This record gives sequence, structure tokens and C-alpha cells, in this order.
Amino acid sequence: MPAHHLMPTYQPLPMSFSHGAGCKLWDGEQREYLDALAGVAVTSVGHCHPRVVDAIREQAGQLLHTSNHYGIQWQQRLAARLAQVSGMEQAFFNNSGAEANETALKLARLYAQHRGIERPLVVVMENAFHGRTLGTLAASDCSAVRLGYKPLPGEFLRVPFGELSVLHDLTQAFGERICAVLVEPVQGESGVRVAPPGYLKALRALCDQQSWLLMLDEIQTGIGRTGQWFAFQHEGILPDVMTLAKALGNGIPIGACLARAQVAQLFTPGSHGSTFGGNPLACRVACTVLDIVEQEGLPANAARQGQRLLEGLRAAVGHLPCVKQLRGLGLMVGIELHSPARDLVRRAADEQRLLINVARGTTIRLLPPLTVDDGQIDEIIRRLAALLGN
Ligand SMILES: *Cc1c(COP(=O)(O)O)cnc(C)c1O
Repeated sequence: MPAHHLMPTYQPLPMSFSHGAGCKLWDGEQREYLDALAGVAVTSVGHCHPRVVDAIREQAGQLLHTSNHYGIQWQQRLAARLAQVSGMEQAFFNNSGAEANETALKLARLYAQHRGIERPLVVVMENAFHGRTLGTLAASDCSAVRLGYKPLPGEFLRVPFGELSVLHDLTQAFGERICAVLVEPVQGESGVRVAPPGYLKALRALCDQQSWLLMLDEIQTGIGRTGQWFAFQHEGILPDVMTLAKALGNGIPIGACLARAQVAQLFTPGSHGSTFGGNPLACRVACTVLDIVEQEGLPANAARQGQRLLEGLRAAVGHLPCVKQLRGLGLMVGIELHSPARDLVRRAADEQRLLINVARGTTIRLLPPLTVDDGQIDEIIRRLAALLGN
């Protein structure tokens, strides 16, 4: 496929799709594929869900954009709906995950200023991924995405993910300067690393004790993916700030930063903004996505099918010599292999008509649409067993 006019940032497979429905995609030759990636956790209600298609059509015929110089009814509705399902109070809308995290980091700066911290630090995790703007890149921990971009903003303290004792040590050394902790409940990009049970709850307690903001990046875990609306709900806590994107628009670009009112109120008119952020189309589609997730019971389906997938994989591939570890939460499932698995993405597509992803070279990452059914889960397992078995 000639692509001489595209900057060489991606290495796409020599294939593309013409249409999709639910968990299926078809290429130009009408070959059918089973989608266990969902555009990287984006098309969670499935491809071309009829209600999403209708919402886009209808809104396109009414109004696409007016700017935030005027009230946007769908934006207000979406903020209220998100507050209702998350327990957070106020929202700011962006166009992507990285921008939502930038919004969170800006809130952390304002919070530090409010507390009189002069050189504020945000605690972030080893193997974190928060996006590719310079700020979120600095918060991320993957040498491949950071390479060549120095100098990066440096106001981060990095600690091992899932280990509390190190955080307590930090309190001694840097307690006065720390203003927030930014963490993914499950680290997706670095290979589906699930926080140990109790970790978020303990982080919440530490943040309360130290007056730090607990900021959760639920860009990949949010909107039902892990078996709850949001991953923090597994632990019965509330963060101070949470970011969303990916599945929120099911393919229409939208990101959101949600916060408790006390934190959100650190913004004042003019202190942050976005031209496209929260436009009528994106917000209406996101409202429709939330309705579908609720009415089709998708968080519960994600919990059930995630378990079916993980247990099925344990039985079908767990014993294979190439498999190192199986792990997951809801419909975020990782199969860590002993050696690099990059060729598997192409082979899965060519030989098994199955779309998967490989994270950090050695972990197969499965993120099927949350609408996936028993038969499709069994088919994913069958095709993966065939792929890994030979
Ligand atoms: C995808 C992702 C991002 C970045 O989102 P973009 O929309 O690509 O900017 C940030 N954090 C997490 C956890 C993600 O999975």
C-alpha cells in the first residue's frame, strides 16, 4: 500500500477494512475477521451499533459545532450522566486521552499552587502510559515512546506499580512537594498489568492522609471494560480526578477529565479550553454510548465474558511452553509469552482471521467489544489455541 505522503510513525499491516458490525470486520475482499482488539478498546459497543449510527446521522443533520462560546446542551447532559455513573461531580471535555490527562495534570498544578507548593511533583508509575503529548510523555514510562524527545518536563517521581512501601518512603523524602498521584488501575499499553487487590484503596488512604490528589487514568479501563463502569469501583473508592477517552465515543474522538467539585473549581473562566472539546456531535454520541452500556448491561457482560475468556485460555493454552503468564480484569486480558510475539499479529489476521494486539513485544493483549457473546469468546480461544499451538 503506497503511503509516501504519510509521516512514517505507524507500521500498518498490508490490510484494511471496508465495514464492520458488532465484533466482526470485513476486508476489501469480503473476508470476515473476528475483532478481539476493538480499535484498542475504543469500539466497545461493537462496530456500527445501530443506535450510535442513528445518533451520528441525526446530529450531523442538526448541528456539528458552535464552539464553547455558547452553551452546548449535549455537553451538559453528558457531564450529568458521567457524574451519575461515576460519582465524580464535574467534567471538562477534550478530544483525546492525552489531552484529558493534560487537563488532569493542569488541575494538579493548580492544586499545588492552591496549597502553596512551589516545586510540585506528581507521582507516576513504572511502565505507565498516559499519552504522547510532551507532558503526558514525561508521565509515561516506555523508552520507545520517549526516545528522542528530551528535554521532557521533569516534575514527576516514578515508583514501582503496585508497591506501597516505596510510596511511604517517598512521603519521608518528598512529602512536602508531592501534590498528586497519577495511576492506571490496569496498565494496558505495557501488557495488561493489573494492580494488586487493595492497592487503589491503600493509595486512596495515603492520598487522604497526605492531602495528595488521587488521579486515575481510566482511559482504557473505563466505561465497563473491567466489569464495572470504572475500575476504581472494584475497590469501593472514589478518586479526586479521573480521565476517560477511548470507549467513551466508540470511535468519535472524545476525552474527558472528571473531578470532585472542590478540585474542578480550581479552574476559572479562561484558565483552560479546547476548540473542538465537547462539541454537540461527540457529546451526543457519548450519551448514546452510555445509554447502550447501561441498557445492554455491558459491564456485567464484560465481567462474565472476561472470566470465560481467561478460564478458557487457561485450559486451552495455559500449558503451552511458549506461554509465561495469563492475566486480566474483565475484558482486558493479557497472554505473556516467553519470547517476542510481534509476528503473531499478522499471523493471527492471515491464518486465523483474528485481530489481536501485542503489547511491549511479548504480551498478546485482548480487548474485544464488550458486546461479545459466549460463542465469540469460545471462537477467540479456539483461534488463539490454533495460532499458539503451531
Ligand atoms: C490510549 C491511552 C492514553 C492516550 O490516549 P490518546 O487518545 O491516544 O491520546 C492514555 N492513557 C491510557 C491508559 C491509554 O490507554
